Amino acid sequence: MKKISIIIPSYNEEKNIPLIYTAICVEWKKSLVDKYDFEIIFVDDGSQDNSVQEIEKLVEKDERVKLLEFSRNFGKEIATTAGINHCQGDACIMMDADLQHPVNLLPEFIHRWEKEKVEVLIGVRKNSKSDSFIKRFGGRIFYKIMRMISEVPIVPQATDYRLLDREVIDAFNKMTERNRITRGLIDWLGFKRRLLYFEADERAEGEASYSTFKLFKLAITSMISLSLFPLRVASYLGLGIIFVSGILGIIMFLDRYFFDWNF
Ligand code: UDP
Ligand code: MG
Repeated sequence: MKKISIIIPSYNEEKNIPLIYTAICVEWKKSLVDKYDFEIIFVDDGSQDNSVQEIEKLVEKDERVKLLEFSRNFGKEIATTAGINHCQGDACIMMDADLQHPVNLLPEFIHRWEKEKVEVLIGVRKNSKSDSFIKRFGGRIFYKIMRMISEVPIVPQATDYRLLDREVIDAFNKMTERNRITRGLIDWLGFKRRLLYFEADERAEGEASYSTFKLFKLAITSMISLSLFPLRVASYLGLGIIFVSGILGIIMFLDRYFFDWNF
């Protein structure tokens, strides 16, 4: 039987953890149980609530559930990376803990992976009405800029809800990038990629922990790590400054020794 690893980064999701676990089990029983095994890897990203205890309860009663516990909050990108590093499946699917990534899409992910021999299947969000204006507007500008400057093709609204084949997981695990944007690195790797469109649900419980400021920081990291453009701007700026100061130096030199400006 093939095994699917479901990777769930979670930060302060005590109420959502039992919900998503149950939803996955129910979905599995419906159509997948005969053909596929699964493991769920919860990566606790330094939660301050009872998330760890909730995950431990599940680990105790179901050996398919695993816990990776961080010493502090490192952010979702690093949490997802740790999950990918430790998963054992023939494919992995990463998804948010808050049930915004619909669990009933899991069979379609797996079905397309098998049928179309897709190596990276990317969940792409159709616009969500629940997002704030700032988030939608900021997102649009971010993708416009990224499309202009990035060396990697960027799909707007692409999410972290995605499936990776074992081959991609192994390639990903060889990378040593530190300032990571997981999905950008996956895009950079190439492989046979396809898109799966979905409508994001509302967050089930709790509050989204990505503030506008944190999203802005993430956008800047994406631009720096996925494009040479900022580096080029810095280089040209440096060259420009050297050039201008050189000219000024020459003028001052001539002024001092050769010219007697009398305006
Ligand atoms: N998350 C995480 N570390 C963080 C922030 C968020 O692991 O520092 C997880 C969170 O628990 C959820 C996913 O990343 O499973 C998406 O976070 P959230 O719902 O806050 O963000 P959204 O993308 O919905 O705005
Ligand atoms: Mg969310």
